[in-house]
Amino acid sequence: MTDRLIHDRLHLNGEWVETEQRLEVTDPATGEVIARVSCAGEEHWEAALDAAATAAPVIAGTPARERSEMLRRAFEIMSERTEDLARLITRENGKVLADARSEITYAAEFFRWFAEEAVRVRGDFRAAPSGDKTIIVDHQPVGVSVLVTPWNFPSAMVTRKLAPAIAAGCPVVLKPASQTPLSALAVVDILTEAGVPPGVVNVVTADPPGPVVSHLLSDPRVRNLSFTGSTAVGRELLRQAADRVVRTSMELGGNAPFVVLDDADLDRTVAAAMVAKMRNGGAACTAANRFIVQQRIAEPFAEAMRVAMEELRVGPGLDDDTTLGASVSLSERDKIADLVSGAVERGAEVLTGARVPEGPGAFYAPTVLQVDAEDPLLDSEIFGPVAPITTVADDAEAIALANRGEAGLISYVCGGDVGRALGVARQLDAGMVAVNRGVISDPAAPFGGTKQSGLGREGGFEGIHEFLESRYIGVDL
Ligand code: NAP
Repeated sequence: MTDRLIHDRLHLNGEWVETEQRLEVTDPATGEVIARVSCAGEEHWEAALDAAATAAPVIAGTPARERSEMLRRAFEIMSERTEDLARLITRENGKVLADARSEITYAAEFFRWFAEEAVRVRGDFRAAPSGDKTIIVDHQPVGVSVLVTPWNFPSAMVTRKLAPAIAAGCPVVLKPASQTPLSALAVVDILTEAGVPPGVVNVVTADPPGPVVSHLLSDPRVRNLSFTGSTAVGRELLRQAADRVVRTSMELGGNAPFVVLDDADLDRTVAAAMVAKMRNGGAACTAANRFIVQQRIAEPFAEAMRVAMEELRVGPGLDDDTTLGASVSLSERDKIADLVSGAVERGAEVLTGARVPEGPGAFYAPTVLQVDAEDPLLDSEIFGPVAPITTVADDAEAIALANRGEAGLISYVCGGDVGRALGVARQLDAGMVAVNRGVISDPAAPFGGTKQSGLGREGGFEGIHEFLESRYIGVDL
């Protein structure tokens, strides 16, 4: 049962702490209140920082092998609890169980990957070209880190930060999304059972989030901010971090183009397009947000997408036969509906969907639209089950349209001639490019964007370095 995994209090210095002010966590499929979670006030932000600062030398001084073993145990515990944790995600977020289960697998993999990385941080020993000294480079934990995470992957976005922080030897104060704090709080249990010392992981839920994060960033003990969320909030936090020159990692919004070249295999491309679009009900920073299709294949592609979208079964994510769950809230669902109705008013052709289904719950019908390349919908992150398709003449036009705008997180290319598809892929301005695939997120690969999609990389060999400082020691031997 998921209920035994539900925590509704803050986690400070290894203790669960109850407060008077509460925020309601609601199941968006039914409107049912699942929990009323304690919110942090100033004394709790201070207590979280005190605990993290006290734990800093403890976790930094714990041998890498021991930190690695804690993370490996966390991977095992989380994997054993997959089903219950997945149900918890579905209840607070609305996504279907299949997506929630893959999220837990993905989330647990960050513990396994960084358990392996914790013991592989390499330094450097070199002779200065001038011959006057020896250069030694080692890597130190950056120190107290503030982590801020979004609602769309309530577990994986938390472990993608916590695992490298612990691997590197950094204590944290985590502020999870207020719509989905339960999955983050459930991860705390796992880390405690895995042997992570008190004070290393402190969780402060807050409503509103601005004052707590601003306060944390203004405290001289905080050395690092790792944020995942929208570009608008990321920009604001970068401004605040600038005041104390706090180091930042920013995983921000996307607007992924999905380019279909005219020699692409239709069935394979539509299968990839559906995964790229519909994983998480379209609420992924990596979600294909605009389909840029070459003329020769445009009509059959649009028709096949219409058919595939109409085959989805919309309903509460906990029902095993549902393939599209609810949006996280009615207001998120309404944002999607507004984006679609704006495009339709401007002349977009509705191939299917474009409506709010009758009945309760934050649902939106799977939608396919044919839109003009200039339509502003193609410049907005939709974050829902909507596939706008636009047609282009050739590779150059596809590349120019794909590279338009401020986002550069991920791009997709499908084509029959892999050499040609790779040639296009290399001209796309994005931190990640998927060729003939609908999903490429992998804890072993560097995740992150160009342009205003962010700064830094999570996962891969790079991820641990977001929590380490290089230190150079010059020695006269
Ligand atoms: P969001 O509104 O930016 O919120 C993200 C986090 O920031 C939440 O914890 C939120 O708290 C907090 N926050 C909001 N306003 C704040 C403020 N003024 N000061 C400090 N903290 C603040 O984003 P979201 O709607 O949760 O998530 C969707 C966005 O995240 C999309 O743009 C998506 O592309 C992006 N995303 C990016 C990645 C990536 O890896 N690049 C991954 C996942 C999602 P509350 O919950 O209390 O509002």
